[in-house]
Amino acid sequence: MPAPVGPDVGRCIGPYTGRFAPSPTGPLHAGSLVAALASWLDARARGGRWLVRIEDADRPRCPPGMGEVILSQLAACGLVPDEPPWWQSRREAAYKQALHQLVDAGLAYPCACTRREIEGALAALGLAPARDSERVYPGTCRGGLAGRPARAWRLRVPPGVVGWHDRRLGAQRQDVATEVGDFVLRRADGLWAYQLAVVVDDAAQGITDVVRGEDLADNTARQIVLQRALGLPTPRTLHTPLVLGADGHKLSKQNGATALDLRDPAAAVRTALAVLGQGLAAAPDARLPDLLAHAAAEWGHRWPLAEAGDNPHMPPIGPKENP
Ligand code: GLU
Repeated sequence: MPAPVGPDVGRCIGPYTGRFAPSPTGPLHAGSLVAALASWLDARARGGRWLVRIEDADRPRCPPGMGEVILSQLAACGLVPDEPPWWQSRREAAYKQALHQLVDAGLAYPCACTRREIEGALAALGLAPARDSERVYPGTCRGGLAGRPARAWRLRVPPGVVGWHDRRLGAQRQDVATEVGDFVLRRADGLWAYQLAVVVDDAAQGITDVVRGEDLADNTARQIVLQRALGLPTPRTLHTPLVLGADGHKLSKQNGATALDLRDPAAAVRTALAVLGQGLAAAPDARLPDLLAHAAAEWGHRWPLAEAGDNPHMPPIGPKENP
């Protein structure tokens, strides 16, 4: 078995820059506030920058104005980004350029397969879909389209196990080639896939630290593969505990999440702190600014950066603008 990819993964990176990157498919709820707060606390505990990126690349799923709703909910909770937010819907040119770079390097290829064809090819190989809703791509179009029209673009995933260190979850590993396969960069409907957009934007914004919900942890290996293919650095990661809905799954619109009740933002922040295991959740009288300041100090003690693989190791970061 190839050795896990290790030494240059999880090594970061200039001045601390964190981000919260919500998909504006609905307003913030108790679960998404946990991720937002954790990324803010981590940045504040380091004296770093905290950015917000509205991930509205999948426009049909994002009701108009929802990005602004999220920004005002964050502000009500005292979470204000240090720079104007970026919007993925304005980043088309950057994603296109990244795809061109991969195509030119022979690392991306067009794919003609429909979902049904992929299922058929897997069944013919005696393989059932292994992941919840995603199928391991069997590589049908790796060698060419055989005259069929291109639908999507995929990354040619190299063989080998990717290993990395998550500050909360510890040592992680995934064989992306066999567990995921060549994943989609640009979808058949022309929209940019989350993996491509997030990797391009994290690098363009100089993100050193990704702090997000644990449900996203298993995207990390794909993102590392893509960062390596594009010659981009890999941020540190810390994946936070999830708030579960009544059905035991991650809280979402589908299982009962409601928009945050912001009549008492400090109470909403205290609830999120409790999920994060922060003692200050029990400070009922603290006002919001004090609560946040003390919570950041506590966070800094609980989540030090000095972990294996955290050495600064990244090109300098210049000023950034959302074009
Ligand atoms: N936009 C993604 C979401 O809301 C999160 C992206 C990320 O933090 O990497 O689920």
